Parts: sequence; structure tokens; C-alpha cells
Amino acid sequence: MLSADFLRLGADVDFVNREADIFHLDVMDGTFVPNISFGFPVVEAIAAKAEKPLDAHLMIVNPGKYVERFAKVGVDMLSFHYEAALDESLNLIGRIHSYDIKAGIAINPDVPVEKIFPLLSEVDFVLIMSVFAGFGGQKFIPESLERIAAVKAELIRRGESHVMIEVDGGVSPSNASALKAAGADILVAGSSVFNAQDRTAAIKAMKFF
Ligand code: ZN
Repeated sequence: MLSADFLRLGADVDFVNREADIFHLDVMDGTFVPNISFGFPVVEAIAAKAEKPLDAHLMIVNPGKYVERFAKVGVDMLSFHYEAALDESLNLIGRIHSYDIKAGIAINPDVPVEKIFPLLSEVDFVLIMSVFAGFGGQKFIPESLERIAAVKAELIRRGESHVMIEVDGGVSPSNASALKAAGADILVAGSSVFNAQDRTAAIKAMKFF
């Protein structure tokens, strides 16, 4: 939703209800990432109209501080960055689960994926950033494909192949099939959909499952 038109947010929420599967909400605090996106007034406005699951991606420091608040909003999926939680990650996953919300661990492109391997048996999904967190409209980092494949292989090795892999950043119809082949289950697309001439066709071109 970071790429939605906030002057006509209701229409864009209707569009996602009609054409997509999940609302992905990029929450940025200006500290964990250099940018500020939107906060609870916008998240709550989207939640009030959303008919598809809400997936909040916290790009914030101290993510634990806001778990309860996001639970109150009614999100279905909540991810935080490993880099923002480190040793607190396991605790935080437990707290997210205590609200009956799917917990995800997110990692930036410069963090070795092996860092999150110990958490793979605890989470419901892994969010692999294919650009650096902080801004919409960035170019896809090709090495992300190897990172997705490495996480997928480790999930299979651990017998945790039900854990979903979500990919976020520079996703478009041109790389969607390669992402799927590498092991991605959920594709997050912002500007490649909202800036497309035919937004419905852009989504259709990225749907495989
Ligand atoms: Zn995101």
C-alpha cells in the first residue's frame, strides 16, 4: 500500500480487495530506516475497509513496543526485522503468536540469511527484502534469488516447508517467475502494480498460485 494514492486511498483499497490477495503495510519510523511512511491512522483506515488479510511489515526500532497495538488493529500477519530485534526475536515471535497472529521475520539484503536459520522453526513466514528497506520503487537486487533459494533449502532440510517465503522490493512481472522458481510463496508488489497502465493485468502476470 506504500505505492497507493493516499488522496484516493478508499479506491485503492477497493482495488486490492477486488484483485489482490493480501494488504501489505510498510510501516517505517525514520530511525530503523531513513524514511517515514504512515502510522496508525492510515493503517486503521485501511483495516476498516480491507476484506483481504492485513500484513504489517514493521521497519521500526523496538518493534515489540507495538505488537499489541497492531493486534488491536486486527492484522493477520506481522513481521519485524531481525536486525531490529536480534536476541529478542524469539521472544517477539512468541508475543505475536499469543495474539493469534502469523509471525514473520524480515531481513535486509546485507544480513546473511544464515542468521535467521535458528528462527525458521518458530515463524510462519520469512520476509526476504530484495531491496534495502526504506523506500518504494527501488530496483530488484538479483542476488536475492540465491538468498530465497538458500532459505527454501534450509526450510526443506528442517522439515518446515510450510513456512512461507515472502519477497519484498522491486518485484514485478519481469522477475515474478524467477522468484517463484527460487521458492517465493508471497510476492509483495507496490509500484509495479500501482504505477502500471493496467494494474489488474500487472497482478495477473504475477499470480501463479
Ligand atoms: Zn514491506
